[in-house]
Parts: sequence; structure tokens; C-alpha cells
Amino acid sequence: METWPLYILIVAAIGIGWWIGRRERVKSADTAVPNYYQGLNYLLNEEPDRAVTTFIQDLEVNKDTLETHLALGGLLRRRGELEKAVVVHENILLNARLDRDVMLNVQLELAQDYLLAGLLDRAEDLLLKLTQEEGHIRSESMKLMLEIYEREKEWHRAVEMGELLAVGEDSEKYERAISHYYCEIAEDLLKLGPRDEARQAISDAIGHDANNARVSLVLGRLELAENRPADAIRALKRIKDQDPVYVAESLDLLKAAYEHNTESLQDFRQYLFECLETTPSISIVLTLAMQIRDEQGDEAVAKFISNYLKRNPTIRGLTQLIDLHMDNTDGIARQNLAVLRSFAEALVADKPAYRCKGCGFDGKKMRWRCPSCKKWGSIEPIFGLEGE
Ligand SMILES: [Zn+2]
Repeated sequence: METWPLYILIVAAIGIGWWIGRRERVKSADTAVPNYYQGLNYLLNEEPDRAVTTFIQDLEVNKDTLETHLALGGLLRRRGELEKAVVVHENILLNARLDRDVMLNVQLELAQDYLLAGLLDRAEDLLLKLTQEEGHIRSESMKLMLEIYEREKEWHRAVEMGELLAVGEDSEKYERAISHYYCEIAEDLLKLGPRDEARQAISDAIGHDANNARVSLVLGRLELAENRPADAIRALKRIKDQDPVYVAESLDLLKAAYEHNTESLQDFRQYLFECLETTPSISIVLTLAMQIRDEQGDEAVAKFISNYLKRNPTIRGLTQLIDLHMDNTDGIARQNLAVLRSFAEALVADKPAYRCKGCGFDGKKMRWRCPSCKKWGSIEPIFGLEGE
């Protein structure tokens, strides 16, 4: 059924082509009529490739027919038929004698086809020329260039392009993106070793978005790598005020920092309790539970978790509670608990853990850029029964 809008458009376009061809006497009716029926034939035989070829051969590109060509190109692109969209747009550029502004817009369309088809070199060549233009063409081509740099992970170039774009009404969006580009740079540097440069990138990331919780995570990692647990703790604790939904992402680093630190674990516990007040997260509860268990034993921790679950039930919390009881029972009761545990695990096994608040995309692993709507910092842990 989905192919019908395309078919209808091609049929209409071939029809218009035949009519215009006859009106302008460009072709004799003797040849135009068979071509029209031939185009229809290809469609009825489900050969849209040949139908598109017939269409672009038959319908001359001029001021009157341009919209039809562009509509077909756009429709093909939206349907993911990128090669055919390229053919339609290239055909316009090759054969039309239209105003310069119109031709520039068609080039922009073609660049989008190349980009979506993964032909990044071709897209980049075309867009580099278009960024030399002015107004709408310049800003749109810069946005597409930015997308290429993001795809190619060319973060320094992305920073430069982002800074050019961050002057308009979307400045907040681009500042946030630039902060993430610097985080990417810092993370790459941390893998390689040069920590001074990583520290500089982190400082630049803060400069572009002081509320980016990811920066605190990267800084915490850097401080830990440099054996400065107290500084790591200070950096990681900022997340509570920046964006508390990401506290759960920092717990492993915090635990490691407190293990290295002489500061009392009481401080860690107090911080976790404070976080829980604003963000009911089962990861925080379970981290606290492990500490209570070390000090006060299984009974106290089971009571702590079940009290929390009464207010904020989650399946992960339930599984942990079952584990605690299993450790202290045997025989048939233990077997029953094992069955219950496997049910609980099965309930959340295929459930996503993260979701984009912009477009609803969800997945199992944390990403800082949504692969669907391409926004930075819009993916968050899912809270509720099956999540955090
Ligand atoms: Zn999204």
C-alpha cells in the first residue's frame, strides 16, 4: 500500500509530461503516447526503477514542471529510495535552465540525498561550495556539514561549524552540542593518555554548557585516572545539581573514588540519601543497600529495600530483595524464590533502559546523542516499574 503515493505521483507526472510534450510539440504525439503507456506498464509490473527513468526522459525540466520533479525527488528520499532521488535531482541540475537561486536549492536537495545515502565525500564537496553562498542556502548547508562532521567523528571541525551556527535563535541547542563535542574530544584523549589536553577540552565543554552532567562524569574519570579521588568526588557530586537523572551513571566512579579516599563513607551515604530525595532511582537504592549490608547485615538491608519498594516499586529492586532472602533460606523455600526470581528477570529482560525525551527512541545502552532525532543530551534513564 505504501508504494501507491509514489505510483500515483509518477503516473500523474508522466501524464503531465505527455500533455506538455504534446502541447509544446516537442515530441510528436506518435511517440509521446506510447511512452506514457510504457511508463504505466512499468508501474503496473512493479518496476519503479524504469518508471522513474521514463518519467525523467519524458518530462522536460522547466519552470512549469520543476515542482513535480522536486516532489518526486523528495518523495523518493522520504521512502529511502536514495539512488532514485539522486537520479531525479541530478537530472534537474543537468537539464534545467532555471534561476540561480532555484538551482542552489536543488543542489541542497541533492546534498541531502548524498548524505542519507552515506556518500559523505560527494555531500561534503557540494556543501563546501554552498556554504560560500548567503542566507538560507548558507545556513542550511552549514547544518548539513555539521551532520557530516558528527558522523565522521571529526569533533574539532564540528566545534568550528557549531560555533558559526550558535549565533542564531538555536544558540542554546548548538552550545549544548559543542559542549558534547568537547566531551567526545576529552574521552578520546583519555583513551590515548594526554591528560592535560583532556583537561583543557573538559574546561571548554564547561564553558559551552555548565549544566552538562556528562562533563562532570568525564572530569571524574580524569581525576580518578590521575589518582585524585577527592577531586573526582567533587566533580561527580555536581551531577546532582546539574541533572540528577544521570546520578545513576556516576555511581561506579563514585564508589571507586570513595574506595581510594580516606574520607568517610558516611559522606557518600549522605550524598546518596540526598539524591534519593529528588530522584527515586533504584540504582542509588541498591548502592546504598550494599553499604548498609556491610555494616548492619542482611535483615536491615532487606527492610530498607522493601520500605523503598512500597513507595517506588521496581522489578530490579524486587530481584535484589529476592536475592537477599535466598541467601538466608534453604530447601523448598529457596527453590520457590529462585522460580520467582527468574520470572522477575524475564519481565525486564528485553525492556529498554533509556529513552529520548525528544522523540521517544529507546534502547538498552546509554547514548549522549539520539540516533533517531540526533539531539544531544536528550536520552535519559527510564524510571518506573520496569526501569530505574
Ligand atoms: Zn531522539
